[in-house]
Amino acid sequence: MHVDRRQFLAGGAAALACTVPSAARGAAAATAKPQAVFQLSSQLGVVPGKELAEKLAHMQKWGFDAVELPSDVAGKVKFYQDAVAKTKLKTSAVCWGSDRGGLVSEVVERRAKTAQALKRVLAAAGELKCTGVVYAPCFHGETKLPVQEIRAVLVDLLPEIGAYAVEVGCRLVMEPLCRMETFFLRQLADAASICRDCHSPGICMMGDFYHMAHEETSCMGAFLSAGPYLHHVHMASKNRRVLPGQEPEEDGPRYLDGFRGLKYIGYRDYCSFECGVEGDKMVEIPRSMAFLRREWEQA
Ligand code: MG
Repeated sequence: MHVDRRQFLAGGAAALACTVPSAARGAAAATAKPQAVFQLSSQLGVVPGKELAEKLAHMQKWGFDAVELPSDVAGKVKFYQDAVAKTKLKTSAVCWGSDRGGLVSEVVERRAKTAQALKRVLAAAGELKCTGVVYAPCFHGETKLPVQEIRAVLVDLLPEIGAYAVEVGCRLVMEPLCRMETFFLRQLADAASICRDCHSPGICMMGDFYHMAHEETSCMGAFLSAGPYLHHVHMASKNRRVLPGQEPEEDGPRYLDGFRGLKYIGYRDYCSFECGVEGDKMVEIPRSMAFLRREWEQA
């Protein structure tokens, strides 16, 4: 059959016209994407001080936006609520853990127990207006299931937990870990695909610059693949897992690259210290905060 070049091109133009509505939708979505904000948070263990009030006072003075709370919030909502209410700080996430891999255990009876524990901490985190509960499915040695079965168990069990999270005004944020800590869920794109398959706004994810340094080819690429599922970020240097900026040759390019990704996806949650500190905390923490703000400006 003879195909006239002019007809062929016209057909192409018509096909192109058909795609315009969806392209326009894409453009509308792009303009609707929120402007990213840089908000600093820290785990309490990083901050100097004998007790909670002293730590929070340091954080407020240094210009932190929020505090990341530890895993014991379930029985101590009022304790944390009262302490935070005396400051201008908000609450970021609750750092919980894996409950020894209970949800994805080969011992089926353990799963319901971990689901209950997760719900208790989600309810407490919701009351404390936290952005999410950090959850790692398993560390090394915590389950005998192979990766494909772990994933299937998660996609089966998480939607119900996600629905509960939404009900109590919180969300679960899955954390990918590096190969030294787990054989399952090491890259942000993997976590994002589990979130996608769960179809629940209560099932989300996070990225940790320390783990990402060992598992991702690009921090920017990793955050782009996480997109709207990303609701928390941890920060530490690559090798000694200390404050961002304390390994300058590694940290400079990585934070710049990662922050570009966060800006691109319109990230509006917190970036939180989960790291050790080399040197005097009173000097080094504000210095690291200044380093990060410079990287964010330049990204
Ligand atoms: Mg972490």
